[in-house]
Amino acid sequence: MGLEVRSPADGSVVASVADQGAEDVRATVGRLRESQPAWEALGPTGRGQWLGRLRDWLFDNDERIAELLQRETGKPWQEATLEVPFAIDLLEYYRKRAADFLADSHPRPHNLLTATKRLTVRYRPYPVVGVICPWNNPVLLALADAVPALLAGAAVAIKPSELTPLATREIVRGWREDVGAPRVLECLTGAGETGSALVEEADFIQFTGSTRTGRKIARRAAERLIPYSLELGGKDAMIVLADADLQRAANAAVWGAMFNSGQTCTSVERVFVEAPVYDEFVALVAGRVRGLRQRAAGKRFDADIGALSSQAQLAIVEQHVSEALANGARAVVGGQRADGPGACFEPTLLVDVDPSMRCMREETFGPTLPVMKVRDADEAVRVANDSSYGLSASVWTHDHARGERIARRLETGAVNVNDMFVNVSAIRMPQGGWKESGVGARLGDAHGLRKYCRPQAITAARLTPRSELLWYPYAALKGKVFLRVTRLLFARDWRRRLGRRRTAAHPDQASIIDGSSRQRSPS
Ligand code: NAD
Repeated sequence: MGLEVRSPADGSVVASVADQGAEDVRATVGRLRESQPAWEALGPTGRGQWLGRLRDWLFDNDERIAELLQRETGKPWQEATLEVPFAIDLLEYYRKRAADFLADSHPRPHNLLTATKRLTVRYRPYPVVGVICPWNNPVLLALADAVPALLAGAAVAIKPSELTPLATREIVRGWREDVGAPRVLECLTGAGETGSALVEEADFIQFTGSTRTGRKIARRAAERLIPYSLELGGKDAMIVLADADLQRAANAAVWGAMFNSGQTCTSVERVFVEAPVYDEFVALVAGRVRGLRQRAAGKRFDADIGALSSQAQLAIVEQHVSEALANGARAVVGGQRADGPGACFEPTLLVDVDPSMRCMREETFGPTLPVMKVRDADEAVRVANDSSYGLSASVWTHDHARGERIARRLETGAVNVNDMFVNVSAIRMPQGGWKESGVGARLGDAHGLRKYCRPQAITAARLTPRSELLWYPYAALKGKVFLRVTRLLFARDWRRRLGRRRTAAHPDQASIIDGSSRQRSPS
């Protein structure tokens, strides 16, 4: 039985894909395992050459990929065309540096026992990495994890979301058939069961998706004792201080909340504005939200916002907004599903919200922007941190130093000061969520490749006397030399360095040594 992929723009069936069960997953991972040693043996430079050919293929096919992406996600054309260039940026960054990042390192010995040894750390890849992806940025997220894993020398099985498997499947086909690259990259299509079968087979799981699924994966990976990295949900806060450039902050708030119809893990989901500028900020944002052009299909750059990825997602957004309205919030703009057959929700600006509402606590993942007035920066930090999530946040102020000070008080994996989403492009820095937003991080210079490797520590003796200080036979002289040297090196003062004791042994010492209890029996 296959799985139908529907266009959220109009509900039509775009294609169907195989629903691959546990047997398929086992067989695919088995083949990857066989191909991986030769791939690893190519070394980072050889592997980089194949990834260079994938880069060329992506440039040659970028429009076709964007069309597929648009049909399966309902994104506006501008956003559908962005995923491949972002992926190529990181592909090139890591391709050029893989040899450096994976090179052996030789730490200098730090103590006498290792002083004459040659120390080497080398990086061996996990043979098969499973990359499990969500539906919001299918191509970018698949490549952001698969490319570093391939460069590290692993073979990779990508499991795209059942809602959006087409563009990813096509890229993997291009790798195999058009590029003619080694069979170290596969696409497994199917729903949650296919993903959980992959967790049973792979040696490392890189997961992006909901916190709920992330927990299941962590439990199973713990039982199998395999490592994993989880990029999960968020409820990102934006803090606008009274001295902020309100025009820039308003533009950023609208883009940050509405980009990809709000279906970005780091979407602006809550805005906290200092009281003196609250009214002006809301008026600016309202004007910009009213100006957004919504259209879910078509290869033109004149639509700002498209459809949500599914009717199920539309229902969640509708629920959050209607509950907020029923509890006293007000929709200054929008507030309901848009007319037409697509899974579209009107771009919505909500005010008079409070932190107890679901739209302020749970991930809405829709084109909604709830704005709340706060007394001052301290209150903003407190309510921003009052969340089970900790993905990212932003702070807006004219005073950059103050912005950074506030950033350091926020409990999130990333903070942008006077900027929106820009940390996602800063691939030299790790990207990971705190609290229920994740475990581990993606990218971040060398970490981005080394996380897919097991470090191996090799210690080689350069001087080879017949015996060493700590080897048999034990003898008073050798033992005392070791203790004396340790004291000389590490004790704080001369009395301790020379091993002089200040007082007689503690009266209880005998009982500590012979194990007798300090508590005497009543008799
Ligand atoms: P999801 O958890 O429902 O599904 C994600 C993937 O996991 C899909 O491919 C799905 O088929 C698979 N899956 C489902 N059950 C599974 C199981 N038991 N074992 C293994 N795999 C299983 O998430 P979603 O609804 O597709 O994506 C939306 C979520 O992703 C949001 O919470 C969003 O915040 C998050 N997200 C996070 C980041 C990040 O970098 N932190 C980026 C994008 C999206």
